[in-house]
Amino acid sequence: MIKDLLSRQVVCTTVGGKGKPCHGGLKRYHPFAGYYNEPDDELLEEIKSEFTEDPKLILLKCETCQTIYRLPEELKRKLKQTV
Ligand SMILES: [Zn+2]
Repeated sequence: MIKDLLSRQVVCTTVGGKGKPCHGGLKRYHPFAGYYNEPDDELLEEIKSEFTEDPKLILLKCETCQTIYRLPEELKRKLKQTV
């Protein structure tokens, strides 16, 4: 699943089986970076079809439920500067 990151969002908002938000921490995620081994092929295909296979692509991933978040352009630029 790929969702949009809302402004000021810092934790995962995906609602789980019991109707409660996940609230998991969001980590930077580089799906196509050489050192990153994404085991979920289906997810990679989904990302590839939306973004292209860019090794510099940065997304966020929930540590708890594995939901992927698209970064707003502004945040994307900021993260690139600090890398
Ligand atoms: Zn989550």
